[in-house]
Amino acid sequence: MSRQTIQSLTLPELTEAVTRMGEKPFRAKQLYEWLHVKLADDVSQMTNLPAAFRARLAEEYEFQPVRMAESFLSELDGTRKFLFQLADGSVIESVLMKYHYGNSVCISSQVGCRMGCRFCASTLGGLERNLDAGEMLGQVYQIQKISGERVSHVVVMGSGEPLDNYDAFVRFVRMVSDERGLHLSQRNITASTCGLVEQIRRLAQEKLQITLAISLHAPNDEKRRLLMPVANRYRIEEIIAACREYEEITGRRITFEYSLVKGQNDGVQDAKELANVLSGLNCHVNLIPVNPIKERDYEATEGPDAERFKNLLEKNHINATIRRKLGADIGAACGQLRKSYLERTKEVSS
Ligand code: SAH
Repeated sequence: MSRQTIQSLTLPELTEAVTRMGEKPFRAKQLYEWLHVKLADDVSQMTNLPAAFRARLAEEYEFQPVRMAESFLSELDGTRKFLFQLADGSVIESVLMKYHYGNSVCISSQVGCRMGCRFCASTLGGLERNLDAGEMLGQVYQIQKISGERVSHVVVMGSGEPLDNYDAFVRFVRMVSDERGLHLSQRNITASTCGLVEQIRRLAQEKLQITLAISLHAPNDEKRRLLMPVANRYRIEEIIAACREYEEITGRRITFEYSLVKGQNDGVQDAKELANVLSGLNCHVNLIPVNPIKERDYEATEGPDAERFKNLLEKNHINATIRRKLGADIGAACGQLRKSYLERTKEVSS
């Protein structure tokens, strides 16, 4: 059986574990600082801890939840993509994006995904397993260490559905924003979901200050079902009601993501219908021309048509932005890199 990731333990949990090992509680604080402030992933660095204690820790826990396997730098915009290997050999991907307001890291929340969105590469092989909180933290920590620059924003928009891995995801948010750790502002954290209604409601009750992004991608249920199987489980109306609740309880503006797919959801009527669906909600729409993957023949909506869609939303009082495409030269769309890595390594080993 694999060892527990030590970075997943909160300070109270670490204190309990440390005292169980017969050490004084202050050792937990020292250890926590090594892990979450100094971002150490090797006990040999933890020189203020007794050697025997360090050896025992290393035996019982996993200290290196993620290790960089490969990285790719975009020559277009400095976006850097990372493939990380987990302790069990699984691979996940993360992205570092540089903006004028700081460095943003996009992390994965699961190995693969079971939501089945038609245009998404992450879901093609199904769900392998959930990540634990330490494996999510590890992606942020490693990228900060490798780049040598502070990470100021995190988006949980890589592979996986964060609300399908609810407990680990919420634990991650609390830990990455912990003032005794990396202390990221929760307002700088965005989590994207395909719209799991019960979990959105539950998340509202956690009283976090994170931004919730909903992957809507269609103005009505019929069109949504063609792109996202999850639309067979929840109606848009139910999702919007849960969003209203989230907004009322947290005071946070909701983001909607809308991938523009040529001829499928980018027409004049679609824009008007979408504006209608979102009217009265404190929200923002991110329009993302779909990033084509080779397994499907979806095409992106071109510039002027995307502009027209945006203008129609704005005319109907819905804020909208067309997202800049980052890392287009390094396969930065969800799951593309992991998939090509798995294909390449399979070819080599077979
Ligand atoms: N499961 C979550 C988060 C992961 S995907 C969710 O569904 O929101 C992050 C975002 O990228 C989602 O909005 C997803 O729909 C979108 N996405 C995935 N593949 C894409 C592609 N090929 N082109 C454009 N957007 C894509």
